[in-house]
This record gives sequence, structure tokens and C-alpha cells, in this order.
Amino acid sequence: GNQHKVEANILLLGAENVGKSALTVRFLTRRFIGEYGDIDSIYSHTDNINGREISFNIWDSLYPQDSETTETISEKQLQWADGVILVYSICDRSSFEVVRQQVQLIRHAGKKTSAIAPIIIVGNKRDLQHRRTVSSEEGRLLALSKDCGFFEISAAETYHGVLLVFHGLMELIKESRALS
Ligand code: GDP
Ligand code: MG
Repeated sequence: GNQHKVEANILLLGAENVGKSALTVRFLTRRFIGEYGDIDSIYSHTDNINGREISFNIWDSLYPQDSETTETISEKQLQWADGVILVYSICDRSSFEVVRQQVQLIRHAGKKTSAIAPIIIVGNKRDLQHRRTVSSEEGRLLALSKDCGFFEISAAETYHGVLLVFHGLMELIKESRALS
């Protein structure tokens, strides 16, 4: 057909150890391998959604370790991204606070396009219910108040939830492009 190829840059943000790499690798390979190391990398992945070819560029970022760095998101990252996945762990309250800060940062990034970039907030590690310290309601409310999508998933247990996150974000990116 005459449908053009769709491409989108997706940035994963969030504190360390919340499962950003696990989500990325799950989406790319459908597998959960357990340990991922500290790698900051951009991956390209082509997927077929409803008969249409979609190219994802996925930036699996590293949360800054340098205590002198006050900004946890770089200008470069914000300019690159068409959409953002903000990940926290449901059993790590401080990681939820990081997401709260980062969503604020992105939404107030001035007049840059990323200020309106679609965001999906992800509460990961849903399999660790017994260690939960962030309720589903808190996650959902934060997302609602900042006009973000929201999912609770387990990258360790299922591929399906991860797929919903990436495909859901692509839908939001397409909508935002249609509007602009
Ligand atoms: P990142 O630092 O945000 O990239 O986090 P990683 O993807 O490296 O994951 C950090 C740790 O959490 C690793 O030991 C993973 O195996 C583990 N992990 C990631 N996702 C899940 C999950 O959904 N459930 C559980 N139980 N562990 C997870
Ligand atoms: Mg990682």
C-alpha cells in the first residue's frame, strides 16, 4: 500500500534497578534474562502492528550516579524523545518519587516539543506483591494528574504487559502527531 513507515524514538527513564533494561530486553527478545548490567544504549526494533511496519528506537538510559548532577534528565534526551516510558518499582518508594520528579521535569521543559511528548508511567515488579510499598491508586493518580498513561506490569513474569506499554505509547505518539 502507500502507507509510509512509522518511526518513533522512545526514551526509558527512572531510578536504577527498577527494570528499565528488563522491559527493553523483554520487548526486543520476548525474554527475561535476570541480570542486565549498567548499559546506556539505543536499540532499533521493527515490529508489525495491525499489518503496519513500525520502527522503534529505544533508549535504555542509565540513572545518573554522579551526585554532582542535579538534573536527572539531559537536554539531549528530551530533544531526542518522541515519547517517554517512566519506570518505577512498586516495592521501591524512592523510585516512585524519582518518577514524580521526572514527570514534572519533562512537563516543564519549556517550549520544547518534549513538554507535550506522550508519557507512560509504569509500575514494574507487580509480581512482588508482598513487598509492595506503592499502591496502584497512587500510581494511577499521578498518571492522571500529569496526563500520562499508566500500567502496572511484571517484566519478569510476562511479555504481554510490556507489549501493551510500548504499543500503547506508539498509539499516543501517533495521536499527538495527527494533532500537530
Ligand atoms: P534498571 O537498572 O532499571 O535497568 O533495572 P534492570 O532491568 O537491570 O533490573 C534490575 C533488577 O530487577 C534485576 O535484578 C532484574 O532481574 C530485576 N527485575 C526487573 N524487572 C523485574 C520484575 O518485573 N520483577 C522482579 N521480581 N524483578 C525484576
Ligand atoms: Mg539498566
